[in-house]
Amino acid sequence: MTERQARSGILETYLARTQRSAARYREAQEVLPGGIVHDSRRMKPYGIYGDRALGSRKWDIDGNEYVDYYGGHGALLLGHQHPEVLKAIHAQLGKGMHLAASHELEIRWARLIVDMVPSVERVRFTASGTEATQLAMRLARAHTGRSRIIRFQTHFHGWHDQAAFGVHDHLDGSASVGVLPEVAQATSVLPPNDVAAVERLIVERKDVAAVMIEPVGSSSGIVPTPPEVLSGLREVTRKHGVLLIFDEVVTGFRVAPGGVQAYYNIIPDLTTMAKIVAGGMQGGAVGGRKDILDWLDHDACQVAGREFINHHGTHNAHPVSAAAGIATLEIIRTTDACEKASATAATLRQRMNEVLEEEGVPWAVYGVHSFFNIHSNPRGDPIRPTRFDASTITVESLKARNESMLGKLRLAMLNNGVDLKGWRGGLVSSAHTAEDIEWTVDAWRKSLRALREEGELPASRSTKTAATA
Ligand code: PMP
Repeated sequence: MTERQARSGILETYLARTQRSAARYREAQEVLPGGIVHDSRRMKPYGIYGDRALGSRKWDIDGNEYVDYYGGHGALLLGHQHPEVLKAIHAQLGKGMHLAASHELEIRWARLIVDMVPSVERVRFTASGTEATQLAMRLARAHTGRSRIIRFQTHFHGWHDQAAFGVHDHLDGSASVGVLPEVAQATSVLPPNDVAAVERLIVERKDVAAVMIEPVGSSSGIVPTPPEVLSGLREVTRKHGVLLIFDEVVTGFRVAPGGVQAYYNIIPDLTTMAKIVAGGMQGGAVGGRKDILDWLDHDACQVAGREFINHHGTHNAHPVSAAAGIATLEIIRTTDACEKASATAATLRQRMNEVLEEEGVPWAVYGVHSFFNIHSNPRGDPIRPTRFDASTITVESLKARNESMLGKLRLAMLNNGVDLKGWRGGLVSSAHTAEDIEWTVDAWRKSLRALREEGELPASRSTKTAATA
């Protein structure tokens, strides 16, 4: 960073460092709505344009280097460009991209998933996590003959019509624009972590097919889900003959080789997967009990004298995704990659909290496994960062966050060479090192100081004696 950049504000520094990205963004607005292709890339004044990546790092088109905590939106537990994953992709590309035929890799891929994920007896591949959650809901409706899906506020399950509300907005479960009200009405969006409310609704309505949950909490743990809630949901759903769906699109093969369900030994009926399952390529899957997945088996349905679920998809079990997925899952199954990423994240959370205490900032960095989330404490609760109790985070407390300050935090971290997952925090991979942590902690301290200089943080005071909040 030049001296001039160091003296200027957060925004000015960002603009000076990312001039090529700025130019691309102007061009992009002429051809892409909003200049972007994914809502999470929306940021002010514009996001960086990525150029290349390796291990835990990535570079933008202006040549800036970042420690990457976006991790391919969670797909890259092993970091960027893992040599064995690349080798598998190249080998398959050399044989053909799409064979329009069954292929051997899809069996090996499914076998690995069945062996690794406890709830999975059969697998159907999809092209994305969104498709996986949609198919899981359809399977649940077909299997139970009931219509209603219970979801939880702020839990993300993709962007299809049954999942496109109740995450960032329409928390009351009403249809967001473009979604049919009658589709939204067949979904109930409940406050997270209230098992009694789930049971009440199941009993009252008698039309509930399934409960779907992100098992570590919304958007990978922002509003954490205590494991007792998972076991409570398992009990209640089993008692009432309702299916339990774990959306392990992010947590699968990350929290543990067998996902959250293996980690806590709480076994859902259906599991949705994507991201890591396809090793950084596109792809997803629904797995679960054979009798439920049998709704996709034409012969089984004919024998049972019932209609089968139609399911097509040009890119289901795409051979290149299968190759990347197999290579990735083999490594995860046979190494300590999940534990390593989780241990690195635990150190990172601890170190970031120490910096908060040293700098007198009453925030906290919290999370489980390889996730870290930034709590900017919008209500101004007395917090001791290193002792923060994340169960105090609620949907209500998230609503109060200061978007413009968090936007500046994001820019400040980018200025200091760290790419976070939006305002939220990030995902740690097994490729992150002790050096990455030091780099990040340094960036964190500099960013907090920059925010303070711009009047975005309360004046410095010790948080070491504050009550545990
Ligand atoms: N479920 C969860 C928990 C997710 O985090 C995501 C994506 N972030 C999805 C589903 C949707 O997956 P995809 O982006 O592959 O459609």
